[in-house]
Parts: sequence; structure tokens; C-alpha cells
Amino acid sequence: MFTKKDVQPLYDENGQLHGVYIKAAIWFKHESQLEAVLFPDEVARSKESKPMAEPIADWEQFLSYWDFNYPMEKVVKCDNCGANTHDWTIDDPKKFTLKAANLGGLVSFKCNHCNYRVSKKHFKDHICYECTPFGCQVK
Ligand SMILES: [Zn+2]
Repeated sequence: MFTKKDVQPLYDENGQLHGVYIKAAIWFKHESQLEAVLFPDEVARSKESKPMAEPIADWEQFLSYWDFNYPMEKVVKCDNCGANTHDWTIDDPKKFTLKAANLGGLVSFKCNHCNYRVSKKHFKDHICYECTPFGCQVK
């Protein structure tokens, strides 16, 4: 539990308020919210330039080798909570976070609503969805 003592005003030699000390544990606990309030423009810009820590290069490589017998699609659906999207790349806020993509046709996501892992196995003629609690290995 934090107290007001963990956030202290800092004064300069003239007694002027110079800044505010915030205990590191508080900062880290609330870092994303604090940054969104303190530096909204930078946060927005960093989201644009690197939308998320997702293996986008792997996804793009996967797309570049697309040779399935159906059109390229970006549908993701979570059987656990019912979240779904027709294009996971454009959702704002993101419903699904890309966790992995490989040339073997396996693309997996984390459902940002319920934290389940949603895996899409791309076969030549169809896609097989699997939904498992995150942390479980996909068979
Ligand atoms: Zn879900």
C-alpha cells in the first residue's frame, strides 16, 4: 500500500517547487496511465510508429508466402468470450494481440478481453481455430 509519503514535492534552494518525486514502484504500477496523461502526444505517436510489441515482421512474411486456396483474411474470433474482428490489424483498441506467426500456417493471438490464446491453423483449403487458456500449449 502506498501513502502520500511515497509522492513528495521537491523544492529548490529558493524554496520554489521544482518537481515531484514519485516512488519507482508507484511509477511502474501506473506508468502507462501516467504517461498517457503526462505525454499524450508522445504516447499517440509511439503507438503509430510501433503499434505494439507484436511479431509483425513474421506476420508480413507469412502474408508474403500466402498460397492458400482462399483469399487472404484477418478474421480472429475467440470461442471463449465471443470477441471477434474481421481485421485484427485495424481494431482500436486492439481486441487481439498477435503472439506468433510462422510459415507453417500457425498464427496465434492473445484475446485482449479474456486473455485466452486464439490460434489459427491455416490449411490449404480451410482455417482451423483453437481457443485455449493462455499458457496452455497448442497441440
Ligand atoms: Zn476471449
